[in-house]
Amino acid sequence: MSDLIKITGLSFFAHHGVYAFETKNGQEFVVNARLWLDAADAAREDNLDKSVNYGAVCDLIVSYLQQHTFKLLEAAVYHVMKEILIQFPLIKQMEFELCKPQAPIAHPFENVSVTMEMGWHTAYIALGSNMGDKERYILDAVRKLEDDTDFRSIHMSRLIVTKPYGGVAQDDFVNGALWCETLLSPKELLARLNALEAQAERKREIHWGPRTLDLDIIFYDDLVMDDSKLTIPHADMHNRTFVLEPLHELCPYFRHPVLKKTIEELYLALQNKEQR
Ligand code: ADP
Ligand code: MG
Repeated sequence: MSDLIKITGLSFFAHHGVYAFETKNGQEFVVNARLWLDAADAAREDNLDKSVNYGAVCDLIVSYLQQHTFKLLEAAVYHVMKEILIQFPLIKQMEFELCKPQAPIAHPFENVSVTMEMGWHTAYIALGSNMGDKERYILDAVRKLEDDTDFRSIHMSRLIVTKPYGGVAQDDFVNGALWCETLLSPKELLARLNALEAQAERKREIHWGPRTLDLDIIFYDDLVMDDSKLTIPHADMHNRTFVLEPLHELCPYFRHPVLKKTIEELYLALQNKEQR
């Protein structure tokens, strides 16, 4: 995304701060922001409807940060960015700096600020259930994601019935996959999916055992990460037909960022292996 709208030195009076006198008296804040979008159509057609009205963005920044009070600059930046990205869907990515030039610091200083980035990321999520009303658990979770403003452009594959995996004797699974855009970071996304699993009364008893709902992150953009709680791309996805088959319906030509193979190549390779 290479087209950029820059806002610099937008200043206004507001009441953010850790100290009571800051929230009571208020002070000056200054914003610098960069908004990335695809402005090619707007440029060619000279049409504001296909771009972002920066005046309206500035109005939103000032009104939001005057109507809400945050202790931390970090919190103010996080929440106002989310509001901008939801209200102006053409903005894909943004960087936002909130400056507090009159912050209560007991030394001469020029400026203090916090800068953060946020944007819409593409995520692929595997859906599974093998207890109770399996389809209902999956469809309820998808409906909750559809109602959540941190998600948009949700596309779901067909649901398929599959045999259990991992050697634990249990009922058949219903599986599917979902493509979406999200404002959440990978860590936040995992927490949101775990919360949906908990709402489906999932109990983590047996590893690979029966579950009402299993929501796994398969891909997050082209990100490659591995820590104790989260591995992206999902570590075992290329060995699981129940992940590859629904994913193949959504994104056959998406390339696995580590294995460097498309979903179609991985799916066909696994089918060949299983037939042997
Ligand atoms: P599984 O999905 O392997 O059957 P669980 O759903 O019980 O098992 O997940 C176990 C742990 O796997 C989770 O607590 C989570 O922290 C971790 N995990 C690692 N990578 C991922 C990922 N990409 N998506 C979802 N969970 C993940
Ligand atoms: Mg899981």
